[in-house]
Amino acid sequence: MAYSKDTVCVQGGYTPKNGEPRQIPIYQSTTFKYDTSEDMGKLFDLEASGYFYTRLQNPTNDLVAAKLCELEGGSAAMLTSSGQAANFYAVFNVANCGDHVIASSAIYGGTYNLFAVTMKKMGIDFTFLSPDCTPEELDAAFKPNTKAVFGETIANPALAVLDIEKFVKAAHAHGVPFIIDNTFATPVNCRPIEWGADIVTHSTTKYIDGHGSSVGGAIIDAGKFDWMAHADKFPGLTTPDDSYHGIVYAEKFGLGGAFITKCTAQLMRDFGSIQSPQHAYYINLGLESLHVRMQRHCENGQKVAEFLQSDPRVSWVTYPGLPGDKYYEIAKKYMPNGTCGVVSFGVKGGRKAAESFMKHLKLAAIETHVADARTCCLHPASATHRQMNDDELRAAGVSPDLVRFSCGLESAEDLIADIKQALDNI
Ligand SMILES: *Cc1c(COP(=O)(O)O)cnc(C)c1O
Repeated sequence: MAYSKDTVCVQGGYTPKNGEPRQIPIYQSTTFKYDTSEDMGKLFDLEASGYFYTRLQNPTNDLVAAKLCELEGGSAAMLTSSGQAANFYAVFNVANCGDHVIASSAIYGGTYNLFAVTMKKMGIDFTFLSPDCTPEELDAAFKPNTKAVFGETIANPALAVLDIEKFVKAAHAHGVPFIIDNTFATPVNCRPIEWGADIVTHSTTKYIDGHGSSVGGAIIDAGKFDWMAHADKFPGLTTPDDSYHGIVYAEKFGLGGAFITKCTAQLMRDFGSIQSPQHAYYINLGLESLHVRMQRHCENGQKVAEFLQSDPRVSWVTYPGLPGDKYYEIAKKYMPNGTCGVVSFGVKGGRKAAESFMKHLKLAAIETHVADARTCCLHPASATHRQMNDDELRAAGVSPDLVRFSCGLESAEDLIADIKQALDNI
């Protein structure tokens, strides 16, 4: 029987048998013991599934990955040490040196750096397109060596909501997977796989943990992309891997298992961005209340956005839940129950006024963090996005006066009172 998302948040991924621990056990062990070398050898050859070294896999992590997999409606999933690692692995698992990837320009600043600077040095070329591009513009961006399309459900911090179906359609028309970072929406508010996305990534550091305790990430495979149908594009999945006695991932592990098995067996083995089982435990605690918390984050976001919109000292407000917002209709389609608790706005007086406003906040703290139980705020142009020039900022949907206000779980009345007094004191 399939349970609702709320129930999966609480109980998914782990069903203890008679006499077993109620809460997921933390397997605080780097390694696992075997009776014979032959037993262990089968694991190294990917002939049997099991654990031998926590850099590749750990049972605690796998329980939490299984919950996330169920929440997103995927076929397989893995945890990573951070959201950065998740996005790097998800893209690098299909794109090599000499390949090309299309990405929405409205993405997290760290992801932009990863793609435009670091992965470019690795020989992967990115084309950044506005999330509002026409289908024709999107179509024209493909090259013979394009291997994936990437976007964010709700862009951090621009709050652009992606027309998922537009990107899915273009990716599939060109025989490549669509990868989507679903961090801000969480599977509670949006399940991109239901709209055709192939790979979903998360920075679990944000709402999924939700308490500012653990940096982490996750990758979930929908298990629907047919690698063999586009075998020439994805040799890493469709030709023998010599480091595992010539197995072919797409043949041996099928649609549902090839992507995550390759990602674990090659990328986790070689780069080692594993999440600690202790962190996986914390993430699971966060997941147990995610559905309840998201509702409150969204309620607070809505109330704060409506207040900001009504105050003449605020020059503009972006929140996809505000009627009239550029993304209101798209958000209604993909996230009918709410988007997230993050509101972006500008204070009259530009950059200087924004800085003064933030200094006067008492409840809301200045942090790079976002999507936390405690309300926090940030001026991206002087923090997360400071590597970008003005043109790049504009393309990423970040104006110099933008304040990112991440509504926590406090009372909305207290948050609004805090904003009011800070505006009074500019
Ligand atoms: C924070 C964030 C990331 C990076 O995640 P880390 O866990 O900080 O490495 C990626 N994508 C989005 C949308 C984020 O908000």
